[in-house]
Amino acid sequence: MEKHVQTITIHGGKEDYRPVKSLHPPIYQTVSFEQRGEALITHRDTELKYSREENPTVMLLEKKIALLEEGEDALCFASGMSAISSTLIHFLGKGDKILVPYESYGTTQKLIKRLAEKFGIEPIFVFPDTEEVLKHLDKGVKLVFLETITNPTLKVFDVPRIAEACKEVGATFVVDNTFATPVLYKPLRDGASVVVHSLTKYMVGHADAVGGAVVADLETTKELWDWRNNLGGILAPFEAFLIDRGLKTLELRMRRHCENALKVARYLRNHPKVEEVLYPSLPESPYHDLAKKLFKDYCAGGVLSFKIKGGRNEVIKFLQNLKMIFTSPSFGAPETIASYPVVSAAKQIPPEIREKLGITENLVRLAVGLENAEDIIADLDQALAKI
Ligand SMILES: *Cc1c(COP(=O)(O)O)cnc(C)c1O
Repeated sequence: MEKHVQTITIHGGKEDYRPVKSLHPPIYQTVSFEQRGEALITHRDTELKYSREENPTVMLLEKKIALLEEGEDALCFASGMSAISSTLIHFLGKGDKILVPYESYGTTQKLIKRLAEKFGIEPIFVFPDTEEVLKHLDKGVKLVFLETITNPTLKVFDVPRIAEACKEVGATFVVDNTFATPVLYKPLRDGASVVVHSLTKYMVGHADAVGGAVVADLETTKELWDWRNNLGGILAPFEAFLIDRGLKTLELRMRRHCENALKVARYLRNHPKVEEVLYPSLPESPYHDLAKKLFKDYCAGGVLSFKIKGGRNEVIKFLQNLKMIFTSPSFGAPETIASYPVVSAAKQIPPEIREKLGITENLVRLAVGLENAEDIIADLDQALAKI
């Protein structure tokens, strides 16, 4: 990792911008920077002058994220949606076709529909399956947008194959790598053009800051830099500090999330009140071979879903009886979080499509946290016993 040359600098008065080697870089909680005719030039050849454009605390985080994803540069945004909306606005214009699976993050789908209505981009929504994506991918498609692992049914895309097909037809391939994180998978290595992130989840890791990032080549990030400046979506310095702090333990946390998720998945799949467990690291998963091919140590992350025998009543009873496990949307926190997709993340998918995707009335999503696996299992066990 590079030394923080410009970021480890504290203000010691007007004349004294002295580099000080503190263990952690300071938070540049400031709107502007002094211009003395020789303004500090950043690594992007821009002048450091105003925090809507650039801020050293944010820049430090961007360098780290670019290194983690093995991209040329990264830009951070106020949220994952700010990163995604800025990326789509940058790449797409009137009449451009975007291919997107209909099991994608709900707000991403809503955004694409609204961009379609207001600005005339043309979405093609497809079933979340590699073959389906490839079938609809032709020269008319400007951009493909998908998530490495879908939510909540944990389908895995063959990113290398789709990347190759995108290159053949000249489409830009944007991968939302929020679920996998660069610890488990690096889509740019396998030919994706752009990676986007919600930093709100595993990257910050403590569920205490909202943020987003885009990683791409220098030409893209340079143009996107202007969009970020014009749209005003840069990440705030304090949130950048929190996310930077979270990143220090990303690898350790992901390892633990993975170990715990696998233990919980194995417990659930043997439970008499559980119909099915969806988790790509399980040998019976249809995505197991792909997970093995793509993800470090075959690990598909900390989120799994399972179907309880019964329906809505059984699920609600189960959720209400959880003691330690928090019931909430989102994931990537130290705490285990359970959610009910038909009333949360997948609410806006029409019921008939939901059914086809496997988002059934008895499906529970579990974002397995960092607690002792035994404690998580004990809580699941007592709540399942009460159904
Ligand atoms: C949460 C999430 C987003 C949106 O990120 P925010 O930081 O909440 O704006 C986008 N994509 C995926 C896969 C997510 O899980």
